Amino acid sequence: MSTPNPIRARGPIDLPKIQQAAADLLAGLGYDLNDESLRDTPSRVARMYEELLTVKPFESTTFPNDGEYDELVVVRDIPFHALCEHHLLPFTGVAHVGYIPGPRIVGLSKLARVVDMYSRDLQVQERMTAQVANWLEETLQPRGVGIVLEAEHLCMTVRGVRAPGSRTTTSSVRGLLRHDPRTRAEFFALVGASTGA
Ligand code: ZN
Repeated sequence: MSTPNPIRARGPIDLPKIQQAAADLLAGLGYDLNDESLRDTPSRVARMYEELLTVKPFESTTFPNDGEYDELVVVRDIPFHALCEHHLLPFTGVAHVGYIPGPRIVGLSKLARVVDMYSRDLQVQERMTAQVANWLEETLQPRGVGIVLEAEHLCMTVRGVRAPGSRTTTSSVRGLLRHDPRTRAEFFALVGASTGA
């Protein structure tokens, strides 16, 4: 099946071009690329970006909800790291993914794969949160979806305001989780986040 809400379209990764750009960056910062300890840095940087921005393909097999389970399914603390699109610095944290099944359910491990897929793009946390929610909505037609991402952004903690330890929380709630106060409160209590207040 096709992937709903694929990560944004972009051209193929050009390793020699990234390598040249990394060499130019180092030279621009005043470093001597003939320094033995820096010589291989541009090629390492190129392979690193390739790894961070390449989606691992996966089968999002879904199953009929035979048992007609109609309560919350929540997977907490799915670790992720992504690159912020403004500084190319990582933001790292955890995702909590919840849904109330409709006609289809999905293997629980696939929820971590979905988070991973959207983390392999130049991102902002707000968009990534909505993309994970959209994927669940479109793939499963659930009765409700709740996504919470909590992350530390290196661009906030090592530069600029230098606020180490600060974490950013974003959430996206749909369907019953948006409109039914009891269900919404249950979800936010389960994930231990305070954004449901
Ligand atoms: Zn940033």
